[in-house]
Amino acid sequence: MRVKDCVYRGRLAPSPTGFLHAGHARTFWTAQQRAEEAGGILVLRNEDLDPRRSRPEFVEAMMEDLRWFGLRWQEGPDCGGPHAPYSQSERVDFYRAGFEKLRSAGRVYPCYCSRQDVLRALQAPHAGDEEPIYPGTCRPGKPGAAQHADRTPSWRFLVPDGEVIEFQDRGRGPQRFVAGRDFGDFVVWRHDDLPSYQLAVVLDDAAMRISEVVRGEDLLLSTARQWLLYRALGLEMPAFYHCPLLTDSAGKRLAKREDALSLRALRRQGIAPECVRRQWPA
Ligand SMILES: [Zn+2]
Repeated sequence: MRVKDCVYRGRLAPSPTGFLHAGHARTFWTAQQRAEEAGGILVLRNEDLDPRRSRPEFVEAMMEDLRWFGLRWQEGPDCGGPHAPYSQSERVDFYRAGFEKLRSAGRVYPCYCSRQDVLRALQAPHAGDEEPIYPGTCRPGKPGAAQHADRTPSWRFLVPDGEVIEFQDRGRGPQRFVAGRDFGDFVVWRHDDLPSYQLAVVLDDAAMRISEVVRGEDLLLSTARQWLLYRALGLEMPAFYHCPLLTDSAGKRLAKREDALSLRALRRQGIAPECVRRQWPA
């Protein structure tokens, strides 16, 4: 699939669930550089869908930290733009319409499993923080489907098992994943009546005419899932550029937290953004 426009539109899409750290800043800086080189613009999208973890005070802190670091955007929750609103919590009706499209096309099915059910049903333990592969308990036609009809279901996308998904990543080169082996049926609508990350970002990136998505390489597998959603929804996929993730001195990925590597803490210590950038590996 090709890039739709000659006008470059990139995006910064942080979640207000904690303070941004140097790892986020590096990915966003790359996004800004790519937008500048292409003579394009950046959209700031506030990914505040998770009501338990998102906090309004983090939204303010997020924008303040991004500005301090030298990041600028031309559309966003603070400055508006043609694709407003730019906060995901204000776009739920729009996501619901996308979900209904998948549902009426028979591409999703209700799943009554809890996370514990999924983990119990797996033969082998899964590694890392990647979502475990769903064993297909509630797939249509399977015995055991709708076992817990008293629970509110989540809705999973029915993945075409064995289909090879290939795309060219502008950062990491050619990518190849197998549906049903590298990832299973994934949630598109949650049991708490909100869209999943996968569905919301696909609908938003398409609606906001994003031409290139710059994000961390931990999301490469999500891009394979999203490839299927773009196709099922009849939407054109943007280009992708996945960046390597920054790790701490022990080689561990940075997580959102208030520590020496949060942008807030760096600023309080009087460290200039240029100094932070100079320490990044080339
Ligand atoms: Zn299930």
